[in-house]
Amino acid sequence: MSISDNLEAVEVRIAEACRKAGRSRDEVKLIAVSKKKPAEAVCEAAAAGQILFGENRIQEAQAKISLCPNHLHWHLIGHLQSNKAKIAANLFRMIHSVDSEKLLRALDEYVATPLPVLVQVNVSGEGSKSGCAPEEAAALIEAANACSQVEVHGLMTIPPFTPDPEKARVHFAALRELRDRLQDETGTPLPELSMGMSHEFAIAIEEGATFVRVGSDIFGMR
Ligand SMILES: *Cc1c(COP(=O)(O)O)cnc(C)c1O
Repeated sequence: MSISDNLEAVEVRIAEACRKAGRSRDEVKLIAVSKKKPAEAVCEAAAAGQILFGENRIQEAQAKISLCPNHLHWHLIGHLQSNKAKIAANLFRMIHSVDSEKLLRALDEYVATPLPVLVQVNVSGEGSKSGCAPEEAAALIEAANACSQVEVHGLMTIPPFTPDPEKARVHFAALRELRDRLQDETGTPLPELSMGMSHEFAIAIEEGATFVRVGSDIFGMR
């Protein structure tokens, strides 16, 4: 299967999950995760119409983005250190992995135009070590509200891997419920939920995902 065929197959599964959940297809945005794949693979996906791409490492992204068409949009989905905030703020349209006030402040210092971010939350307390604890999210949202350029648009999570994708459902539901609670508590609109990867994006869509981050099902195994 070519990258173009894979994109089509992923699109069918997204549309099916939206239909099953009674959601409109345009509520869900597909991020093609091109980490560890060459610029040629990105160009192939771009030729098939994909515009939004995700990367998880700054240096790799910096090299790759310079080789790719200009009309593409890039989101950072991996952990970001504060000392790389300046580069990241200039490369990416959205940062999905904000998990500390230090990082928020560093980003805000370096951007001259509004920068949308998501607060990454470790909802399960296991698996990925990145992300703040659920109890810390409100403070981060308040800190983002005090920034001049950084704007928080929602939450992101990476659930622990389980062979059965259904097992991820509780974590996706937990992120949605946390979002609902934080919207009430902080009065900040949090429309975006970034959750679901190749293995379980259909479940994430059923639980309210607005961004799904799909790598291997589009570009092949890494
Ligand atoms: C690699 C990665 C993905 C994509 O994972 P696949 O299983 O290849 O779809 C999604 N989100 C994050 C944060 C990643 O690092």
